[in-house]
Amino acid sequence: MSNLFENRPAIHAEAHKAGGSVFAARSTQEWQQLDAAHHLHPFSDMGSLNKVGSRVITRAEGVYLWDSDGNKIIDGMAGLWCVNVGYGRKELAEVAYKQMLELPYYNTFFKTTHPPVIELSKLLSEVTPGGFEHFFYCNSGSEGNDTVLRIVHQYWAAVGQPKKRYIISRKNGYHGSTIAGASLGGMDYMHEQMPSQVSNIVHISQPYWFGDGGDLSPAEFGLKCARELEAKILELGAENVGAFIGEPFQGAGGVIFPPESYWPEIQRICRQYDVLLCADEVIGGFGRTGEWFAHQHFGFEPDTMTLAKGLTSGYIPMGAVAIRKKVADALIAGGDFNHGLTYSGHPVAAAVAVANIKILREGGVIERVKNETGPYFQKALREALAASPLVGEIAGAGLVAGMQLTEDKASRKRFANGGEIGLKCRDYCFKNNLIMRATGDRMLLSPPLVINKHEIDEVVEKAAHCIGLTARDLGMV
Ligand SMILES: *Cc1c(COP(=O)(O)O)cnc(C)c1O
Repeated sequence: MSNLFENRPAIHAEAHKAGGSVFAARSTQEWQQLDAAHHLHPFSDMGSLNKVGSRVITRAEGVYLWDSDGNKIIDGMAGLWCVNVGYGRKELAEVAYKQMLELPYYNTFFKTTHPPVIELSKLLSEVTPGGFEHFFYCNSGSEGNDTVLRIVHQYWAAVGQPKKRYIISRKNGYHGSTIAGASLGGMDYMHEQMPSQVSNIVHISQPYWFGDGGDLSPAEFGLKCARELEAKILELGAENVGAFIGEPFQGAGGVIFPPESYWPEIQRICRQYDVLLCADEVIGGFGRTGEWFAHQHFGFEPDTMTLAKGLTSGYIPMGAVAIRKKVADALIAGGDFNHGLTYSGHPVAAAVAVANIKILREGGVIERVKNETGPYFQKALREALAASPLVGEIAGAGLVAGMQLTEDKASRKRFANGGEIGLKCRDYCFKNNLIMRATGDRMLLSPPLVINKHEIDEVVEKAAHCIGLTARDLGMV
């Protein structure tokens, strides 16, 4: 185990000796010009981005990134919440190389299969909680949620209730950016851009106590939000509602942790009205909260789990849906499932996923998050920010946290222009070589799960420093 956390510099030196960079170096300016000329970035305002130029990330090791100017940046976000085992994992690269030579691709559509997808499915059945024995593969979290939608429809048709077609989701939830993913998600700015959405999807409130809880206690507010699901089911008619989908904690929505009362009540309601409970574990899965899956942290039992990100630690794209036995059995008995992707169960991605999950399991990475680094990170953040007049709430568990920037802590008053304050803080992080994300007026951290205590200290110190500079600009300190 000590090996796993201490041998990173050695791996790095070796990788560089072995071959150096795939692409010859250009100047930062040249890279930025070519990027502006030919590359459209996701979720970006290209007009304004092209004026300043993108930061060019050239390499990474452990929890650190380097840019083309040689700056060493600590990655408080594990890429986009995905690089759970950290950067520079030689064993993942080697497995991909070997698998590419042996069987780089074959499909699983036409009565064929291959060892990597079989081994991955077996391994997933071992690391997921009891009841999950079947897995369907795709290439991303978005496609995973598209798949969930298809599974929900197929399931209810198979058990003779084809009218159960409504799916209830939540405002400010994030379920990806395919048409179905974005329709399931509750991001207004995405919906506005997408006049035609998938039908039969309706949204209820998010369990965001800090912003919306008013005078209710968190426990009361959690129940109130959950009971909106019940009201919506009754409004639509339980015979028409197929599933509820939610992230155990909202990630892109701002690392919003629901009150403890929320999920047990959601589960009660789903069971009572015979509605499938679908957990989007794309961020929460593979150790983020210190449990293998975030629903285990919150104490509920979903019928499907959407997986991506940490499944391969982002080394190669892959998504999956874990399907509870009762649902899988109905699908298996229900005839053709008319859904699949050319790369479903891709052998190279599957081989990398197996190697990645073995690192998590055999290296004791998740136990370490649960017992050591997670509690250390949560405590350090709270101590460092306790005196900040700008931080109204810190939500999180394990190695994920959301810090609410607030105009007035006592009354939980939020900034009218919260997005601007968040971006101001993020700009300071950028200048201080810390990757910390801003979602509106919440600052988010989700570092690689292999981060050590010394590195946690660095993340926390830099985060507190940047939040302090933001508070100073606002005249709060
Ligand atoms: C990132 C994310 C997705 C989408 O995954 P992609 O791989 O970007 O398609 C879906 N759900 C959640 C909760 C996510 O965080």
